Formats: sequence, structure tokens, C-alpha cells
Amino acid sequence: MKRLLLAVAVSVLALAPAAHADMPANWTKPTKPYRVVGNIYYVGTEGISSWLITSSEGHVLLDAGPTPEVGKQIERNIATLGFKLADVKILINTHAHFDHAGGLAQLKTDVPTAKLWISRGDEPAIEQGHHIGDNENGPTPMQPVKVDKAFGDNQKLKLGETTLVAHLTPGHTIGCTSWTTAVVEKGRPLNVTFPCSLSVAGNVLVGNKAHRAIVADYRESFVKLRAIPTDVVLPSHEEQGGLLAKRQKQLRGDPNAFVDPTELGRFVDGYEAAFNKELARQQGAGANR
Ligand code: ZN
Repeated sequence: MKRLLLAVAVSVLALAPAAHADMPANWTKPTKPYRVVGNIYYVGTEGISSWLITSSEGHVLLDAGPTPEVGKQIERNIATLGFKLADVKILINTHAHFDHAGGLAQLKTDVPTAKLWISRGDEPAIEQGHHIGDNENGPTPMQPVKVDKAFGDNQKLKLGETTLVAHLTPGHTIGCTSWTTAVVEKGRPLNVTFPCSLSVAGNVLVGNKAHRAIVADYRESFVKLRAIPTDVVLPSHEEQGGLLAKRQKQLRGDPNAFVDPTELGRFVDGYEAAFNKELARQQGAGANR
């Protein structure tokens, strides 16, 4: 029965895709912005992350939530923290899915001087405004937005004393990008990784015509991401890193609330196991046809 309901929900979504009516409520629910570690601030909604990385020469914003309205929420959160929206110089993104890129167009409209940097693999999806690659959920549209700079693996982004590095970890999308930076928290240096999603999330793994290398891409990304030295994992969904619980620990005075050098390995292990299970399921479904 649950399956049937899900199938009905998916087909309704396919008929009226722009509304994303089945979006979880916490994806748009406002939450108080806060400083995480070093010069990194949480400015997203309760369920979907957005990160502000500040510098003396202006700021970088990573991900912009699912909708233009959430884009506005992010802008208010930046102001609440005492930063000027106009000082956001560069917009970056983990991947071209509506829940992380749907607010980018709003940010570009409200901060016309900000430049949007997107990996070459995800550039077409961002500019066309939908997921590219065969996916059971369809193209899941978002507001299209023009890319100012398309980049490849190991692209460095420098602004003032802040440096971010782009690590291409494709699979979940063609140009999925994990970002890293280094911060200092109370005199202690910490390596921070913002991992791109690794979940299958409806992706067709067997015979994906628009993303032929999808299986090899996922496998290489598991290896690559696991090897990045990381003290702090800041994922794009709350539940991927227990962000609400960590914030509560931080509010109780724990200076290490967000620090866990073993977390990234466990993060990758979990997604790799789920990927292998789903790949076997899709291969089995193909063989029984
Ligand atoms: Zn996604």
C-alpha cells in the first residue's frame, strides 16, 4: 500500500513538477543562523544547509536552498549575523539539484555583483534549470541561472585569507562538487569538508543514457572523498550529519560539537553500502525483465 501511495505521489509530482509539493516541511522551515567553526556560518533552513564562509575581502555562499523564498530567508540570515549581503562575492553549490540550487537565481538577482561558480559537469543543469541524467523522479525543475565561471577538479577559490578547494565527486549528479577549506578555531587548525551528496536518490544506475559513467563515477567518488583529511563534516542535509543535535551540543558549551575526524569515513561507508544494495536491486530488476 505504501508503495502504491508513493507511486501515486511520484506520478502527481511528474504532472506538476514545478511545485515540488511533496517537499519535506523542514526544507523551507526557518532556523536561527549561527557560527559553526572558524569563519563558517550556518545560514540555511532547518533541513537544508547553506553555508557562509567569510573573509576580510568579502564572502562566499555555498548552496541556496530549494526555492526563491528560501533564498530570501538565507539573505535575512546573513543580515541577522551582522554581515552585508552586498559583501557576498561568490556563490558556489554542492550540486545541481533543486533543493540546493533552487534559491541561487534569487541570490543572483539580489546581489548582482556576486559571481556564480559551478563545476563544468553541473553547468548545463544549472543553466537549463533541471536535473540532467535519467532519474526516477524526473527532471525536478528549479529556477535556471547563468553561470559566471565553470571549473574543473581542484579549482581553488581565494578570497582574502580564505581558500576553498573544489573536489569533483560525481555520481549523485554529473558535476557533484565537494568543497574543502581550513579554519582556525580558538587557535586550533581544523580541516573542513562540505561533501556533495552520495545517495542514489532515484538515479538510474543501469543504462543511464545521459550519465553513462554513473556507476564508475560513484565508485571513484567514494574512494576520493574518503581520502580527504577532515576534522569537520558539513553536509548539505541536516540528517546527513545530525546538525541539529550538534548545534544543541554547541549551545550547551561543547567546543568540539562539530569536530569528529572519523565522521567522513563513516559518512562514505554508509552511502557506499546503500549504493551497492541499490545497484544490485536495479541489476536484478533488469535481469528479471
Ligand atoms: Zn541532490
